[in-house]
Amino acid sequence: KDVILEVKDLEVSFDTYAGEVKAVRGVNFNLRKGEALAIVGESGCGKSVTAQTIMRLIPTPPGRIKNGQILFEGKTDIVKLSDKEMEEIRGSEMGMIFQDPMTSLNPTMTIGKQITEGLIKHQGYSKDQANERAIEMLKLVGIPNPEARINQYPHQFSGGMRQRVMIAVALACNPKLLIADEPTTALDVTIQAQIIDLMKDLQNKIDTSIIIITHDLGVVADIAQRVVVMYAGKVVEQGAVRDIFYDPKHPYTWGLLRSVPRLHDDSDAELVPIEGTPPDLFAPPKGCGFAARCPYAMQVCLEHDPQHSSINEGHSVACWLTNPMAPKVDRPVEVGE
Ligand code: SF4
Ligand code: MG
Repeated sequence: KDVILEVKDLEVSFDTYAGEVKAVRGVNFNLRKGEALAIVGESGCGKSVTAQTIMRLIPTPPGRIKNGQILFEGKTDIVKLSDKEMEEIRGSEMGMIFQDPMTSLNPTMTIGKQITEGLIKHQGYSKDQANERAIEMLKLVGIPNPEARINQYPHQFSGGMRQRVMIAVALACNPKLLIADEPTTALDVTIQAQIIDLMKDLQNKIDTSIIIITHDLGVVADIAQRVVVMYAGKVVEQGAVRDIFYDPKHPYTWGLLRSVPRLHDDSDAELVPIEGTPPDLFAPPKGCGFAARCPYAMQVCLEHDPQHSSINEGHSVACWLTNPMAPKVDRPVEVGE
Protein backbone atom coordinates (compact mmCIF):
# COMPACT_ATOMS: atom_id res chain seq x y z
CA LYS A 1 0.00 0.00 0.00
CA ASP A 2 1.05 3.59 -0.59
CA VAL A 3 2.67 5.47 2.24
CA ILE A 4 0.83 8.67 3.18
CA LEU A 5 3.09 9.80 6.01
CA GLU A 6 6.77 9.17 6.58
CA VAL A 7 8.37 10.27 9.83
CA LYS A 8 12.17 10.19 9.56
CA ASP A 9 14.74 10.72 12.34
CA LEU A 10 12.42 13.13 14.12
CA GLU A 11 13.91 14.94 17.11
CA VAL A 12 11.93 17.43 19.17
CA SER A 13 13.13 19.27 22.25
CA PHE A 14 11.71 21.80 24.66
CA ASP A 15 13.94 24.55 25.93
CA THR A 16 13.11 25.26 29.55
CA TYR A 17 14.76 27.27 32.29
CA ALA A 18 16.05 24.01 33.71
CA GLY A 19 17.59 23.01 30.38
CA GLU A 20 16.71 21.08 27.20
CA VAL A 21 14.10 18.34 27.50
CA LYS A 22 14.73 15.83 24.71
CA ALA A 23 11.13 14.72 24.30
CA VAL A 24 11.45 12.95 20.93
CA ARG A 25 14.87 11.46 20.21
CA GLY A 26 14.98 10.08 16.68
CA VAL A 27 11.60 8.61 15.74
CA ASN A 28 10.98 6.71 12.50
CA PHE A 29 7.75 5.21 11.21
CA ASN A 30 5.50 5.10 8.15
CA LEU A 31 1.75 5.31 7.87
CA ARG A 32 0.12 3.66 4.87
CA LYS A 33 -3.02 4.89 3.13
CA GLY A 34 -6.21 3.79 4.84
CA GLU A 35 -4.30 2.26 7.74
CA ALA A 36 -4.87 2.84 11.47
CA LEU A 37 -1.61 3.02 13.38
CA ALA A 38 -1.51 3.10 17.17
CA ILE A 39 1.30 4.80 19.07
CA VAL A 40 1.49 3.40 22.60
CA GLY A 41 3.61 4.07 25.66
CA GLU A 42 3.52 5.58 29.14
CA SER A 43 2.82 9.26 29.61
CA GLY A 44 5.91 11.32 28.86
CA CYS A 45 7.22 8.83 26.27
CA GLY A 46 6.89 11.39 23.48
CA LYS A 47 3.79 10.00 21.77
CA SER A 48 1.71 13.15 22.10
CA VAL A 49 4.64 15.37 21.17
CA THR A 50 5.16 13.27 18.04
CA ALA A 51 1.49 13.62 17.10
CA GLN A 52 1.43 17.33 17.77
CA THR A 53 4.61 17.81 15.76
CA ILE A 54 3.00 16.09 12.77
CA MET A 55 0.18 18.63 13.03
CA ARG A 56 2.73 21.37 13.79
CA LEU A 57 0.83 22.20 16.96
CA ILE A 58 3.93 22.36 19.15
CA PRO A 59 4.38 25.90 20.43
CA THR A 60 7.78 27.15 19.26
CA PRO A 61 9.36 28.25 21.54
CA PRO A 62 9.66 26.45 23.91
CA GLY A 63 9.34 23.56 21.44
CA ARG A 64 11.93 23.05 18.74
CA ILE A 65 12.11 20.53 15.89
CA LYS A 66 15.81 19.75 16.01
CA ASN A 67 16.08 17.27 13.21
CA GLY A 68 14.16 15.08 10.83
CA GLN A 69 11.53 15.08 8.14
CA ILE A 70 7.79 14.48 8.11
CA LEU A 71 6.88 13.69 4.53
CA PHE A 72 3.19 13.98 3.73
CA GLU A 73 2.14 12.15 0.55
CA GLY A 74 5.77 11.57 -0.32
CA LYS A 75 6.61 15.18 -1.12
CA THR A 76 5.57 17.89 1.34
CA ASP A 77 7.96 18.12 4.29
CA ILE A 78 5.75 19.35 7.12
CA VAL A 79 8.81 20.42 9.10
CA LYS A 80 9.67 23.01 6.43
CA LEU A 81 6.24 24.51 5.76
CA SER A 82 5.40 28.08 6.73
CA ASP A 83 2.68 28.58 9.34
CA LYS A 84 0.33 29.72 6.61
CA GLU A 85 0.94 26.69 4.39
CA MET A 86 0.48 24.47 7.41
CA GLU A 87 -2.81 26.10 8.28
CA GLU A 88 -4.07 25.29 4.78
CA ILE A 89 -3.11 21.62 5.17
CA ARG A 90 -4.62 21.39 8.64
CA GLY A 91 -7.88 22.85 7.40
CA SER A 92 -8.18 20.57 4.41
CA GLU A 93 -6.07 17.43 4.66
CA MET A 94 -5.57 16.68 8.34
CA GLY A 95 -7.84 16.51 11.34
CA MET A 96 -7.02 16.07 14.99
CA ILE A 97 -9.08 14.96 17.95
CA PHE A 98 -7.93 15.37 21.53
CA GLN A 99 -8.61 13.85 24.91
CA ASP A 100 -10.47 16.95 26.00
CA PRO A 101 -12.82 18.32 23.33
CA MET A 102 -12.90 21.68 25.08
CA THR A 103 -9.28 22.27 24.06
CA SER A 104 -10.14 22.07 20.38
CA LEU A 105 -13.71 23.37 20.34
CA ASN A 106 -14.24 27.08 20.60
CA PRO A 107 -16.66 27.71 23.48
CA THR A 108 -17.86 31.01 22.03
CA MET A 109 -18.86 29.69 18.62
CA THR A 110 -21.85 27.53 17.63
CA ILE A 111 -20.82 24.08 16.56
CA GLY A 112 -22.34 24.70 13.13
CA LYS A 113 -19.99 27.62 12.64
CA GLN A 114 -17.05 25.51 13.80
CA ILE A 115 -17.77 22.84 11.23
CA THR A 116 -18.56 25.16 8.34
CA GLU A 117 -15.75 27.68 8.83
CA GLY A 118 -13.00 25.47 7.42
CA LEU A 119 -15.18 24.23 4.57
CA ILE A 120 -15.91 27.78 3.46
CA LYS A 121 -12.37 29.03 3.99
CA HIS A 122 -10.35 26.12 2.62
CA GLN A 123 -12.63 24.05 0.40
CA GLY A 124 -14.72 26.56 -1.54
CA TYR A 125 -18.10 25.58 -0.08
CA SER A 126 -20.94 28.09 -0.20
CA LYS A 127 -22.66 28.84 3.09
CA ASP A 128 -25.63 26.60 2.26
CA GLN A 129 -23.48 23.72 1.06
CA ALA A 130 -21.36 23.98 4.19
CA ASN A 131 -24.47 23.94 6.39
CA GLU A 132 -25.76 20.87 4.64
CA ARG A 133 -22.41 19.18 5.11
CA ALA A 134 -22.37 20.11 8.81
CA ILE A 135 -25.78 18.50 9.35
CA GLU A 136 -24.66 15.43 7.43
CA MET A 137 -21.50 15.14 9.60
CA LEU A 138 -23.42 15.51 12.85
CA LYS A 139 -25.77 12.76 11.66
CA LEU A 140 -22.80 10.58 10.76
CA VAL A 141 -21.32 10.88 14.25
CA GLY A 142 -24.67 10.11 15.83
CA ILE A 143 -25.91 13.47 17.14
CA PRO A 144 -29.71 13.38 17.30
CA ASN A 145 -31.69 16.25 15.78
CA PRO A 146 -28.67 17.91 14.10
CA GLU A 147 -30.75 20.59 12.36
CA ALA A 148 -31.48 22.18 15.73
CA ARG A 149 -28.27 21.33 17.55
CA ILE A 150 -26.13 22.97 14.91
CA ASN A 151 -27.00 26.33 16.47
CA GLN A 152 -25.92 25.34 19.96
CA TYR A 153 -22.65 25.94 21.78
CA PRO A 154 -20.22 23.27 23.05
CA HIS A 155 -21.28 23.64 26.69
CA GLN A 156 -24.79 22.57 25.71
CA PHE A 157 -23.51 19.08 24.86
CA SER A 158 -22.64 16.24 27.23
CA GLY A 159 -19.04 14.95 27.36
CA GLY A 160 -19.66 12.09 24.95
CA MET A 161 -21.64 14.27 22.57
CA ARG A 162 -18.89 16.91 22.59
CA GLN A 163 -16.39 14.21 21.65
CA ARG A 164 -18.64 13.36 18.71
CA VAL A 165 -18.92 17.01 17.74
CA MET A 166 -15.12 17.29 17.76
CA ILE A 167 -14.88 14.24 15.51
CA ALA A 168 -17.44 15.84 13.20
CA VAL A 169 -15.35 19.02 13.06
CA ALA A 170 -12.17 17.04 12.41
CA LEU A 171 -13.74 14.92 9.66
CA ALA A 172 -15.89 17.50 7.92
CA CYS A 173 -13.12 18.36 5.46
CA ASN A 174 -12.59 14.68 4.57
CA PRO A 175 -9.05 14.65 5.91
CA LYS A 176 -6.59 12.19 4.46
CA LEU A 177 -5.05 11.92 7.89
CA LEU A 178 -6.79 11.87 11.26
CA ILE A 179 -4.73 12.05 14.44
CA ALA A 180 -6.52 11.06 17.64
CA ASP A 181 -4.67 11.70 20.91
CA GLU A 182 -6.20 9.64 23.75
CA PRO A 183 -9.62 10.23 22.22
CA THR A 184 -11.52 8.15 24.74
CA THR A 185 -9.53 8.46 27.95
CA ALA A 186 -11.80 11.01 29.60
CA LEU A 187 -15.01 9.16 28.76
CA ASP A 188 -16.90 6.46 30.59
CA VAL A 189 -16.66 2.93 29.25
CA THR A 190 -19.95 2.79 27.31
CA ILE A 191 -19.27 6.04 25.49
CA GLN A 192 -15.65 4.96 24.86
CA ALA A 193 -16.92 1.90 23.05
CA GLN A 194 -19.34 4.00 21.00
CA ILE A 195 -16.59 6.42 19.97
CA ILE A 196 -14.29 3.55 18.96
CA ASP A 197 -17.08 1.97 16.93
CA LEU A 198 -17.69 5.33 15.33
CA MET A 199 -14.02 5.75 14.39
CA LYS A 200 -13.87 2.26 12.92
CA ASP A 201 -17.01 2.94 10.97
CA LEU A 202 -15.59 6.20 9.65
CA GLN A 203 -12.36 4.51 8.68
CA ASN A 204 -14.32 2.05 6.56
CA LYS A 205 -16.61 4.69 5.06
CA ILE A 206 -14.13 7.48 4.36
CA ASP A 207 -10.86 5.52 4.08
CA THR A 208 -9.06 8.03 6.26
CA SER A 209 -5.59 7.10 7.54
CA ILE A 210 -5.53 7.25 11.32
CA ILE A 211 -2.85 7.70 13.95
CA ILE A 212 -4.25 6.92 17.35
CA ILE A 213 -2.26 7.77 20.45
CA THR A 214 -3.31 5.68 23.41
CA HIS A 215 -2.17 3.79 26.49
CA ASP A 216 -5.23 1.55 26.21
CA LEU A 217 -4.31 -1.73 24.54
CA GLY A 218 -7.99 -2.60 24.24
CA VAL A 219 -8.41 0.35 21.92
CA VAL A 220 -5.32 -0.75 19.98
CA ALA A 221 -6.64 -4.27 19.42
CA ASP A 222 -9.97 -2.87 18.38
CA ILE A 223 -9.03 -0.27 15.84
CA ALA A 224 -5.38 -0.44 14.73
CA GLN A 225 -3.62 -2.62 12.18
CA ARG A 226 -0.13 -1.60 13.27
CA VAL A 227 1.49 -0.51 16.50
CA VAL A 228 4.45 1.72 17.33
CA VAL A 229 5.70 1.30 20.91
CA MET A 230 7.50 4.36 22.27
CA TYR A 231 9.71 4.65 25.33
CA ALA A 232 11.71 7.65 26.54
CA GLY A 233 11.35 9.52 23.26
CA LYS A 234 12.20 6.62 20.98
CA VAL A 235 10.44 3.86 19.10
CA VAL A 236 11.48 0.62 20.80
CA GLU A 237 9.34 -1.77 18.77
CA GLN A 238 6.91 -1.63 15.88
CA GLY A 239 4.88 -4.17 14.03
CA ALA A 240 1.48 -5.48 13.02
CA VAL A 241 -1.01 -5.75 15.89
CA ARG A 242 -0.58 -9.54 15.98
CA ASP A 243 3.24 -9.18 16.17
CA ILE A 244 2.99 -6.85 19.14
CA PHE A 245 0.29 -8.81 20.99
CA TYR A 246 1.40 -12.36 20.25
CA ASP A 247 5.12 -12.14 19.44
CA PRO A 248 6.47 -9.05 21.19
CA LYS A 249 10.27 -8.87 21.37
CA HIS A 250 11.09 -5.86 23.54
CA PRO A 251 11.15 -6.19 27.35
CA TYR A 252 9.27 -2.89 27.61
CA THR A 253 6.50 -4.23 25.34
CA TRP A 254 6.33 -7.34 27.55
CA GLY A 255 5.92 -5.10 30.57
CA LEU A 256 3.30 -2.97 28.85
CA LEU A 257 1.23 -6.01 27.90
CA ARG A 258 1.32 -7.26 31.49
CA SER A 259 0.51 -3.90 33.01
CA VAL A 260 -2.52 -2.74 31.06
CA PRO A 261 -5.91 -4.44 30.87
CA ARG A 262 -7.09 -5.56 27.48
CA LEU A 263 -10.66 -4.92 26.45
CA HIS A 264 -11.53 -8.45 25.38
CA ASP A 265 -9.23 -10.32 27.71
CA ASP A 266 -11.42 -12.52 29.90
CA SER A 267 -8.50 -14.19 31.62
CA ASP A 268 -7.87 -13.47 35.28
CA ALA A 269 -4.19 -12.79 34.57
CA GLU A 270 -2.94 -10.35 37.17
CA LEU A 271 -1.83 -6.91 36.06
CA VAL A 272 1.80 -6.28 36.87
CA PRO A 273 2.99 -2.68 36.82
CA ILE A 274 6.41 -1.99 35.30
CA GLU A 275 8.69 -1.11 38.18
CA GLY A 276 10.78 2.03 38.18
CA THR A 277 10.40 5.27 36.31
CA PRO A 278 11.40 6.44 32.82
CA PRO A 279 14.77 8.19 32.48
CA ASP A 280 15.24 11.90 32.90
CA LEU A 281 14.87 13.44 29.46
CA PHE A 282 17.06 16.39 30.46
CA ALA A 283 19.93 13.92 30.45
CA PRO A 284 18.90 10.71 28.69
CA PRO A 285 21.16 7.70 29.28
CA LYS A 286 23.92 6.90 26.82
CA GLY A 287 22.80 3.31 26.24
CA CYS A 288 19.33 1.75 26.06
CA GLY A 289 16.74 4.07 27.63
CA PHE A 290 15.02 1.12 29.31
CA ALA A 291 18.15 -0.36 30.91
CA ALA A 292 17.48 0.96 34.42
CA ARG A 293 14.14 -0.89 34.50
CA CYS A 294 15.01 -3.90 32.39
CA PRO A 295 15.45 -7.27 34.10
CA TYR A 296 17.58 -8.46 31.17
CA ALA A 297 20.01 -5.55 30.95
CA MET A 298 23.56 -6.48 29.97
CA GLN A 299 26.79 -4.51 30.00
CA VAL A 300 26.39 -3.54 26.34
CA CYS A 301 22.93 -2.04 27.09
CA LEU A 302 24.48 0.57 29.36
CA GLU A 303 27.08 1.64 26.84
CA HIS A 304 25.38 1.49 23.47
CA ASP A 305 21.84 2.29 22.41
CA PRO A 306 20.64 -0.64 20.28
CA GLN A 307 19.61 0.10 16.68
CA HIS A 308 16.46 -1.42 15.25
CA SER A 309 16.79 -4.88 13.84
CA SER A 310 14.16 -6.59 11.73
CA ILE A 311 12.19 -9.58 13.04
CA ASN A 312 10.07 -9.96 9.95
CA GLU A 313 8.46 -7.74 7.31
CA GLY A 314 7.22 -4.67 9.18
CA HIS A 315 8.21 -5.91 12.66
CA SER A 316 11.34 -4.38 14.15
CA VAL A 317 12.76 -3.99 17.63
CA ALA A 318 15.54 -1.98 19.26
CA CYS A 319 16.99 -4.34 21.87
CA TRP A 320 20.32 -6.08 22.34
CA LEU A 321 18.53 -9.35 23.15
CA THR A 322 17.49 -9.69 19.51
CA ASN A 323 20.15 -7.58 17.82
CA PRO A 324 22.45 -9.70 15.64
CA MET A 325 25.30 -7.26 16.38
CA ALA A 326 25.14 -7.97 20.13
CA PRO A 327 28.37 -9.17 21.72
CA LYS A 328 28.45 -12.98 22.03
CA VAL A 329 29.36 -13.04 25.68
CA ASP A 330 27.85 -10.49 27.99
CA ARG A 331 27.13 -10.32 31.67
CA PRO A 332 23.82 -9.36 33.24
CA VAL A 333 24.20 -6.19 35.28
CA GLU A 334 22.63 -5.04 38.51
CA VAL A 335 19.69 -2.84 37.62
CA GLY A 336 17.99 -0.07 39.50
CA GLU A 337 19.25 2.90 41.38
FE1 SF4 B 1 16.83 -4.52 28.17
FE2 SF4 B 1 19.21 -4.32 27.00
FE3 SF4 B 1 17.04 -4.79 25.54
FE4 SF4 B 1 17.43 -2.40 26.66
S1 SF4 B 1 18.68 -3.34 25.08
S2 SF4 B 1 15.54 -3.55 26.62
S3 SF4 B 1 18.37 -2.95 28.59
S4 SF4 B 1 17.94 -6.12 27.09
MG1 MG C 1 -0.51 12.64 26.07
